[in-house]
Amino acid sequence: SESSLEYGWNACRLSNLPSHLQFKPTTKLLIDGKFIESKTSEWLDIHNPATNEVVGRVPKATQEEMLAAVDSCSRAYRPWSDTSILSRQQIFLRYQQLIKDNIKELAKLITLEQGKTLADAEGDVYRGLQVVEYACSIPSLMLGETLPSITKDMDTFTYRLPIGVCAGIAPFNFPAMIPLWMFPIGMVCGNTYLMKPSERVPGCTMLLAKLLQDAGVPDGTLNIIHGQHAAVNFICDHPAIKAISFVGSNPAGEHIYERGSKNGKRVQSNMGAKNHGVVMPDANKENTINQLVGAAFGAAGQRCMALSTAIFVGESRDWLPELVERSKSLRVNAGDQPGADVGPLISPAAKVRVQSLIQSGVDEGAKLLLDGRNPNVKGYENGNFVGPTILSGVLPTMKCYTEEIFGPVLVVLEADTLDEAITLINNNPYGNGTAIFTTNGATARKYTHEVDVGQIGVNVPIPVPLPMFSFTGSRGSFRGDTNFYGKQGISFYTQIKTVTSQWKAEDATVTSPAVTMPT
Ligand code: NAD
Repeated sequence: SESSLEYGWNACRLSNLPSHLQFKPTTKLLIDGKFIESKTSEWLDIHNPATNEVVGRVPKATQEEMLAAVDSCSRAYRPWSDTSILSRQQIFLRYQQLIKDNIKELAKLITLEQGKTLADAEGDVYRGLQVVEYACSIPSLMLGETLPSITKDMDTFTYRLPIGVCAGIAPFNFPAMIPLWMFPIGMVCGNTYLMKPSERVPGCTMLLAKLLQDAGVPDGTLNIIHGQHAAVNFICDHPAIKAISFVGSNPAGEHIYERGSKNGKRVQSNMGAKNHGVVMPDANKENTINQLVGAAFGAAGQRCMALSTAIFVGESRDWLPELVERSKSLRVNAGDQPGADVGPLISPAAKVRVQSLIQSGVDEGAKLLLDGRNPNVKGYENGNFVGPTILSGVLPTMKCYTEEIFGPVLVVLEADTLDEAITLINNNPYGNGTAIFTTNGATARKYTHEVDVGQIGVNVPIPVPLPMFSFTGSRGSFRGDTNFYGKQGISFYTQIKTVTSQWKAEDATVTSPAVTMPT
């Protein structure tokens, strides 16, 4: 459609021409309410991971364009933060409906650029939508506190207020959910927002931005730039930007946390993971095997909460053959094909990396129970596919254990006792998520108290909290002190002003100066 060409997010998908004859849409910048073509000379190709065909191009925004985007955010800040909170709530109420109305279109864009299955892509949008729905409760979430009669005639109260221009830097693996963790919460609090989507999957963010415009958000309150390191460093350095939300890998997240903090900004940085699933012998076997398979291989293992490591305790190790059989039944295919369970990895480089980590496990003595390398995906021979893979007999010193694989690879360790499993997990530097499978309440309780991981599932394989809670990854998976969404997300994007006032009756006027500290 014409409007889709206007900001260039899906033109080629609408054409039946062979790919080399198709028009390759350019991703626009969003500056001051307008979707504009970048004047840059540097462009990056966007690929369909199932075919590696180029489906679009994304600019590396110029310095001038990035400055224009921040200036627009700065100009829009005062009027937006002065808008009544009920008006902001109304915009986000309209926004959540527009996202629902366009969920299929958003999901198609995700599958095109990211590769995950259409059903999983809808889940990606849905989990982001829930954060927008949470944002619609902003009048209650922004309430301050009051304490009357602190001393005679004196009352104290607080306002919760926005902080200014905020920025978000997103990864490729959840093109809808993660940007929706960022700008809706930031903006509903009264901040203006500069977004830098992942350069590999920018299309979904552009459509989300168009929908936000349609919901009635004023020009300049959301600006979008594209690029890689230069855009990220620009965000870390620009003095007008007061807070940065980052989600992605550890090298990028640590860099952004350090550089942004050094420049006096608030930074919340959600990073990589190695999530362990502990299987107790008393667990419900059928349930556990299905949960493990889904959580290890869903989204081709490209979730920060993927259950990529299993620890079988005691006799539960006898379940391995069934785990392998169940994993074999998953269908590897392009994400838009009916019945696909496991889509492609994001890039050829990711495929090479995952395959070499599988080989490193074999070379270091692990047993390859299921080898998903080079699966035969008919009609998609150029795609970045790796099928479900299981390595058992893995030791904590092996590279396939120490590195986040971010592919459909389950590494299996064994432990004799629950204590041994807990020690293993607590010695791992990451603290994003973990799960225990058991039918014993005391075992579950001991686990949840002793394991040093920020998000724990009890018979729940991917315990990503709903937005009335916060995403509480810890240790090596997080830098900062205030988490994404939920009450903590509101705290991250707001500051407190505390007012202490005294209104005395006329006959109680102070008659001499008080030079000591008032108590
Ligand atoms: P990535 O770090 O490569 O990219 C994330 C963003 O940072 C992108 O916008 C990119 O342009 C930018 N970037 C990349 N390298 C950079 C560098 N060296 N310096 C500055 N900026 C840089 O991450 P990705 O590959 O897109 O995403 C996968 C990673 O994200 C995995 O490690 C995964 O565990 C993690 N992740 C974590 C969470 C979480 O909530 N903890 C959620 C999703 C993904």
